[in-house]
Amino acid sequence: MIPVIRPWLGEEEAEAAAAAVRSGWVAQGPRVAEFEKEFAGYAGAAEGVAVSSCTTALHLALHLLGVGPGDEVVVPSFSFIATANAARYVGATPVFADVDPLTGNLTPATIEAVRTPRTAAVIGVHQGGVPFDVDALEAVCSKQSLALVHDSACAAGSTYRGNPVSASASLATWSFHPRKLLTTGEGGMLTVSDPDQAARLRRLREHGMSVSAADRHTSSGVKLESYDEVGFNYRMTDIQAAIGLVQLAKLPDVIERRRELAARYHKLLAEIDGLTWVTDPDYGTTNYQSFWVVLPDSYEGTSVDVLEGLLTRGVSARRGIMASHLEPAYDKANLPVTEHLTSRSVILPLFHQMAESEQDTVVTALAEIIR
Ligand SMILES: *Cc1c(COP(=O)(O)O)cnc(C)c1O
Repeated sequence: MIPVIRPWLGEEEAEAAAAAVRSGWVAQGPRVAEFEKEFAGYAGAAEGVAVSSCTTALHLALHLLGVGPGDEVVVPSFSFIATANAARYVGATPVFADVDPLTGNLTPATIEAVRTPRTAAVIGVHQGGVPFDVDALEAVCSKQSLALVHDSACAAGSTYRGNPVSASASLATWSFHPRKLLTTGEGGMLTVSDPDQAARLRRLREHGMSVSAADRHTSSGVKLESYDEVGFNYRMTDIQAAIGLVQLAKLPDVIERRRELAARYHKLLAEIDGLTWVTDPDYGTTNYQSFWVVLPDSYEGTSVDVLEGLLTRGVSARRGIMASHLEPAYDKANLPVTEHLTSRSVILPLFHQMAESEQDTVVTALAEIIR
């Protein structure tokens, strides 16, 4: 069976995790601090604040901004449901905006279509690694005095106008779940441009403590902490950070290989009439975290028929990116592009170790099903 993704983990990660265990310091400590510094450098950001997941990073971002009850947060429905849930965590109302059919991302027009006087923030998602048009979203948000949070969960290694995708963001959130390209098992990060905000986020992720447990441990004198506001336990462990440091060093190779394989998919898939697929927008590059195809209108089956057909041919694919507003946890909305993309797209296998023969198998199977 060809899997949809396979994390690229090896002995080096195992050794790094073992070294953290042997050091006797397994909770948030020096390895987390090093990983934050390295990741922020890679992302082109001033500061990194490691947390337990991208979901907790999104919660902290909205909490930091003071978004709360009575506020609306514009989010794409076309995203993993954690994006919308973050607004709920702070008592705000997520308002779903539609997306661009080619990139799967919010645009100034789709934001404007749902903005109200209660809108406090926008969470833009670089969906599947495809960058949204950062300057365009920044412009619409700053004109209306709205905060813009980048949900960069999928986008480590994507670029916008030649720079790391969220280098200009004041707040961006990242995921290190195994379904993403850099994994720590579970894990996340906020990248932040303002050092004061980074310092407050570091306290908020650790129960609101004024002095971190790691700092108290390494201090030569007695240091007492105070709790000046209510915080959370959203810490990453040093075991995770040790793995993350190894994974981060591999990431450029991972992305290079994914982009090679994606280019090869583009060539092979061109033989299937009417099929379209994800590609770079003109202002940036995707890391191809998700390689999706949109089924031709002429194909009368459903995406589930395609998934079943692939499975019988030894290929494990996935349904397209979800539409959060169609889930029972949320209310229906009028989002034609989102519904089209969700119902008519399929995510094909793409992973670092993938052989070209496996890719050929995927394309042959898809062509057989669609014909
Ligand atoms: C995966 C994902 C998340 C959640 O990340 P976790 O680290 O699993 O919490 C949030 N937003 C988007 C767009 C994602 O793809």
